[in-house]
Amino acid sequence: MAGRKTTQKGARTSRARERELLEQRAAAVTMPRSADVCVIGGGAAGLACAVTAAEAGASVVVLECSLECGRTILATGNGRCNFCNTSLAPGNYNHPEFVAASMGEPGEALERVLGFWESCGLVWAEEDGRLYPRSRQAASVRNVLLARAERVGVTLAAGREATGAARHGGGWRVRLAQTWDGQERAIDAAALVIASGGATSALAGALGLPLVPESPVLCAVGASAPVPGLLERLSGRRAHCVAALTRGGRVVMREAGEVLFREYGLSGIVSFNLSRHAAPGDAIELDLAPEVDAWEVDHLVASHPGDAHALDGILDPAIASELITLAGGAQAGGVAWRVAPLVKGLPFRVTGLADEAHAQVTRGGISVAALDARTLAVRDEPGLFACGEALDVDAACGGFNLAWAWSSGMTCGASAARNAASVRVPHFSDTPAGTKNDAPVRTAAPERTLS
Ligand SMILES: Cc1cc2nc3c(=O)[nH]c(=O)nc-3n(C[C@H](O)[C@H](O)[C@H](O)COP(=O)(O)OP(=O)(O)OC[C@H]3O[C@@H](n4cnc5c(N)ncnc54)[C@H](O)[C@@H]3O)c2cc1C
Repeated sequence: MAGRKTTQKGARTSRARERELLEQRAAAVTMPRSADVCVIGGGAAGLACAVTAAEAGASVVVLECSLECGRTILATGNGRCNFCNTSLAPGNYNHPEFVAASMGEPGEALERVLGFWESCGLVWAEEDGRLYPRSRQAASVRNVLLARAERVGVTLAAGREATGAARHGGGWRVRLAQTWDGQERAIDAAALVIASGGATSALAGALGLPLVPESPVLCAVGASAPVPGLLERLSGRRAHCVAALTRGGRVVMREAGEVLFREYGLSGIVSFNLSRHAAPGDAIELDLAPEVDAWEVDHLVASHPGDAHALDGILDPAIASELITLAGGAQAGGVAWRVAPLVKGLPFRVTGLADEAHAQVTRGGISVAALDARTLAVRDEPGLFACGEALDVDAACGGFNLAWAWSSGMTCGASAARNAASVRVPHFSDTPAGTKNDAPVRTAAPERTLS
């Protein structure tokens, strides 16, 4: 017991030390008063955007509210980062036409994303079309990206939260929340990129952008079982299956892969993908042995009369035992013809989404109708761009969401740099003498702030 307490205390101390180090590192970064391009959000899309803009010749500042840029990348793919997919194509996304216009033809889109990573020095490996860093460490992806950003002179301003922005001269003035010294600051930029990820509504709404309501997707599905207690008993068990989501008797989607039973419903990659389409009242049927015909199941059980383990050879024995019990028990007459439909279509009823706090993606955000897909420029707002999950674009598991972050980030970076080259930013050097670098600033233009 004492040993456990010491370990917990040790972990707390090392977390506190790490935080202190990150704070020191973030505080050491001097914020310029102005830049060609200001990117709000130092996640996947923001960093791809910043690198591309800087390589096109723009001075770039990334504002990241957490203490480290690229932190969101570390959690992806269970720490392995499934950063792209060989089947990258617009049809994988909720707005295929918009994504097609932005990403280009499938082969071209994949080549562009992989070209970006090749230039970062990343070596990858494929697993059923999913692409991972060869090291299977998300840190590899994050580190090579940050190194490239630093090499091309991007200012990575971590621990700086954007709280609002206003038009200023030909560009934008972005206001920041108080930092370590308790002072508020601002930065001027010719082009402003919103790359603040999911749950971006407050920032985008304050800028007056049209929004689609946000909701979590790629999370577990809440479900009720055909008999009470079944999910509780199976909780923690996994099965390879084909899941069919049906509404009013019509199949909405089928998905093959692993399901994880939970007391509240169904989790695992299959359920994550179903969550993009499921609504309360829908039915989910799990074919728990897709490679085995119903008559084979029938035959197996019928040829082992009274054997409670008759299905152990094709299913997880715990699941097999539950199904035989559900069919009336091994001794019951007609168990064979009752159990086969359960193996081939164990029914559940969707009650809603579950474990939403751990959803991988937020649907909704900035409406794609507000943007020019080719440049990702906000229509009628010169110098304003948006990319990544901040937009109402989402896809199934498999590396497609990160692929969108990289692709849209690169597009935004190129467009923002082009825009900045054509606009003269009213640099702080233009403001009255005595205003020092990295000093607090007052904005003159009407400010659009977060509520
Ligand atoms: C657990 C988990 C696992 C995942 N695994 C995968 C996977 O394997 N493959 C895949 O394709 N997708 C995966 N995803 C989804 C993927 O991570 C996202 O689609 C992707 O990160 C979106 O990139 P983004 O840059 O748009 O947003 P983010 O990566 O979320 O970055 C946004 C950044 O903006 C910052 N920010 C927000 N507001 C402000 C502000 N006002 N001022 C300054 N900074 C701000 C945030 O702190 C954040 O760092 C996973 C998601 C999760 C949660």
